[in-house]
Amino acid sequence: MARRIVVPLVRDLVGTALYQTGLTRPARVGHDRLTIVTFHRVLPPEVLQDYPIGEIAVSTDELAWFVDLFAREYTAGTLSELHRRFEAGERPKKPFLAITFDDGQLDNFRYARPLLEAAGLRASFFVPLDAIDGNQPLWHDRLGYAADRLWRQDEAAARSLLGELGPVPADRHAALMIALERTKALAPERRLDFVAKVEARLGQAPRPEWDGMMSWDQLRELAEAGHEIGSHSLSHAILPLLDDAQLGRELKGSKDRLESELSKSCEAFCYPNGDADSRVIEATHRAGYRRAVTTAWGINPPGADPLRLVRCDLQGQHSRTLFGRLSPSRLAFRLSPYFSGPRP
Ligand SMILES: [Zn+2]
Repeated sequence: MARRIVVPLVRDLVGTALYQTGLTRPARVGHDRLTIVTFHRVLPPEVLQDYPIGEIAVSTDELAWFVDLFAREYTAGTLSELHRRFEAGERPKKPFLAITFDDGQLDNFRYARPLLEAAGLRASFFVPLDAIDGNQPLWHDRLGYAADRLWRQDEAAARSLLGELGPVPADRHAALMIALERTKALAPERRLDFVAKVEARLGQAPRPEWDGMMSWDQLRELAEAGHEIGSHSLSHAILPLLDDAQLGRELKGSKDRLESELSKSCEAFCYPNGDADSRVIEATHRAGYRRAVTTAWGINPPGADPLRLVRCDLQGQHSRTLFGRLSPSRLAFRLSPYFSGPRP
């Protein structure tokens, strides 16, 4: 109990002290680096409560706070524009910070776009094209919606199904997060079979009415407003598991399609789940991408490999003090060299 209060309290005090003395201020620590931040879903607080995978969502209030801070303390914008300027040696007084959103969710268009544009900012959106074409949730959301609802309706059934992949903890959310990790490790067909099995056991459409992917018209609107649309592959496949022909389709096929739909060159790629080995990176280069982002935590120094750019995945809770207030010093600490990354 004491640890639950003392550790965050010490963290808050140290964070404030480092910030007050200027040691973690963006202008100081971000100066010779390219910071790239990642978001996924953006949901109003009342909807976020019902979203089973809160780890990949921020509330609209939290995003508004982040965006306001980025606009004040950084030169913030799309990945490709800022990476180009960073590589050309430009070092503005307010350091570069690229804003990225993964997965192409409709909520990005509904909620993130107006907040960004009201602050005069533009961002990069990485979209998986099959999900856009079919307006279908990605497998992790399908499993999240189905397992979460099944658990509430029939806990024993949910336990026994999720238990097929390994022992299941008592807590619903903890059980879902472990099941997601285990499902991710399955071969692609087995993964989809397992998701379909949970959906079939539930016996009704588990997708909430607010869920959806952005449409091509919305992507065109974003691109016309100055945002960047990057590729997140066709099928959101774990790329190192694919053969060369499949890999080529996911990389080049998605790039060609985005360029023809949006009439703009597509220079940026985002590896699904951050998974890339040297063969995938070589294929990304051959497909013609200039830059690609991973999910590894970090801030890019000058000369960073443009096809292995690291990012900082931001959640509201990590920028809150012990008392729940969103705090610039907490965020500054997290984006500083004093923070070595989230625990695995
Ligand atoms: Zn993704």
